[in-house]
Amino acid sequence: MRKIFRDVVSVEKALEELNRHYKPERKAEFVDLLNATGRIVAEDVYAISDVPPFDRATMDGFAVRAEDTFEAEEDNPVRLRIAGRLAAGDKLKIGIKEGEAVEIATGAAIPKGANAVVMVEFTRSYNSCVDVFKPVSPGENVMSAGSDIMTGELILRRGDRITHREIGVMAACGIKSVKVFKKPKVAVISTGNELVKVGESLEFGRIYDVNSYAICSAIEENGGKSIFLGIAKDRREEIEKLVEKGLEIADIVITSGGTSAGVGDMIYEILNRWKPGVIVHGVAIKPGKPTVIAVCNNKPVFGLPGYPTSALTIFEVFVAPLIRWLSGIEHSGRNRIRCRIATKAFSAEGRREFLPVNVVKSSDGFSAYPVSGSYSGAITALAFTDGFVEIPEDVVMLEEGEEIEVNLYSELKPADLVVIGSNCVGVELILRLMRAKESFKAKIINVGSTGGMLAVKRGEADIAGMHLLDESGIYNEPVLRKYCIKNAILVKGYLREQGIILAKGNPKGIRGFEDFLRDDVTIINRNKGSGTRILLDMFLKEIAKKKGIGFEELVRKIRGYNVEAKTHSSVAVAVLSGRADAGLGIKSVATQYNLDFIPVRAEEYDFLIPKDRLGKKHVRLFLETLNSDEFKRELEKIDGLRVYDKTGEIIELKKIS
Ligand code: AMP
Ligand code: MG
Repeated sequence: MRKIFRDVVSVEKALEELNRHYKPERKAEFVDLLNATGRIVAEDVYAISDVPPFDRATMDGFAVRAEDTFEAEEDNPVRLRIAGRLAAGDKLKIGIKEGEAVEIATGAAIPKGANAVVMVEFTRSYNSCVDVFKPVSPGENVMSAGSDIMTGELILRRGDRITHREIGVMAACGIKSVKVFKKPKVAVISTGNELVKVGESLEFGRIYDVNSYAICSAIEENGGKSIFLGIAKDRREEIEKLVEKGLEIADIVITSGGTSAGVGDMIYEILNRWKPGVIVHGVAIKPGKPTVIAVCNNKPVFGLPGYPTSALTIFEVFVAPLIRWLSGIEHSGRNRIRCRIATKAFSAEGRREFLPVNVVKSSDGFSAYPVSGSYSGAITALAFTDGFVEIPEDVVMLEEGEEIEVNLYSELKPADLVVIGSNCVGVELILRLMRAKESFKAKIINVGSTGGMLAVKRGEADIAGMHLLDESGIYNEPVLRKYCIKNAILVKGYLREQGIILAKGNPKGIRGFEDFLRDDVTIINRNKGSGTRILLDMFLKEIAKKKGIGFEELVRKIRGYNVEAKTHSSVAVAVLSGRADAGLGIKSVATQYNLDFIPVRAEEYDFLIPKDRLGKKHVRLFLETLNSDEFKRELEKIDGLRVYDKTGEIIELKKIS
């Protein structure tokens, strides 16, 4: 019976519908050993021969009857007649009788009558006889037939993943091909007029097709065979043609994009040409709500949303488990780890949320940093995070410090150096110079100065870059005092020229902060808690005082005051694109984007380091690099950044608290 859900359904309901309309069928095939790597065994495998197939010498020496050597002593050898010679692979033609020996090479079959091998080191041979200086016991230096693997022994179980070791075992017993689960064939289609194949040139307004590449890779990782059918323009015939082809040649079809309003109806209509057609239209999940699931000719078709993070989340939830099951991989493949959530996170009510996080070690376990902001458009939310938290439908908020479980994308490899805080090109430079000396894994989490300070307090960061100003006009120290940070030291870093970033040529004729009040000027602000925003507010408070009005009243007059950019670069990009006329930021990004700049003040960018990390090799290397002449030279090449007489100075915070 045909059933259509035009409404959003829960993840469970969607899975239920899929299970009701589609019964997946596992298929198996025989593959040659040379092509079996990574495949999953479909049927138990038993040895079809003994390994080794015959009694075999494990040493070079003489095959003997052990009894004949019992009398041998170092100064009184037993003399045996040499009855012949055997090399590995020789057919057995000789046997031995009492008082005889056969010279034998490692791997050769033990001649009839012999039951041990005397190592060549304990013999001296002449033309026709050999002196044995040490007795051997029966079975010594002989590997008997079937002692490794016995015919009929179970060597591989259904569900085992085949690696070079399993291949070795099968080769030893002469098994030439193995029955494995067939890889499900999965056809992949991207839709969207804006999409361009990677490798082709990108005209304005177009973007590279991320989904097909990422999805094909995810299919292979989960044991499937991906078939990329190409990019369809948002035209019914084009999409239809590719879907038809997919249904013809593959077991599963995946499209991405075009599931939301407008074009969405097209995919919906196309998939309804088959029976039962669309069975799920919208899932209560974040990201990934506009998802279509259909069954056409008994084959499942998944219409994934366009945003890469959404598409890959839906893939993870609905498609990956199916491919894994079909290809015989039973386990989910995700390691889990218990963490405390480092910052408060909000979640949409009534939707299951998959929140990407970064995991770092803390003083008492692990902390997970949610990747904040609207991430459905950001591919890096997936690429540069460690895993995700699954937040149930009825949870609307995770409190800071709450225990949660993180599903890891791969095994968690602890970083050698964890840098959490405000991000700066100067830090990138230090890391680059360090890498030139030795390779190491760094984890950089950009959460602003205040976030970095808290990360140090919780023992998560090795180093936190910060530039926090308070009303006293002094950087960092007073704020650290206020927050009672005692488990760390402050290392003075370098100076960063801060100023007003303006469009090239300063078309609006902006000369200072007073101009931010003009009707024809729109600014871009920085996020709350950032040093740059505090600096701007300081200047604005002065202006408010001069004008005799309140600060709140003043900022209400400033267009764009409430629009927040998270990084210096995004301030520059906002100005470059004309979304804003001005913003406070550092000179190096103004230069990088070829924008005008009015210097305002040099800020002190310092490093907060927990005391118990000072002995850490990579922290020491970091500080050495900060103090080096090479860093001084390289830093000065970056416009607006420079070391000064305080660089490297250490401030003990205990004294000031
Ligand atoms: P749509 O579902 O087609 O409305 O797409 C939603 C968003 O995802 C749009 O910004 C698209 O440009 C983007 N998008 C769609 N398909 C892809 C793709 N294959 N790779 C990268 N971005 C995509
Ligand atoms: Mg589209």
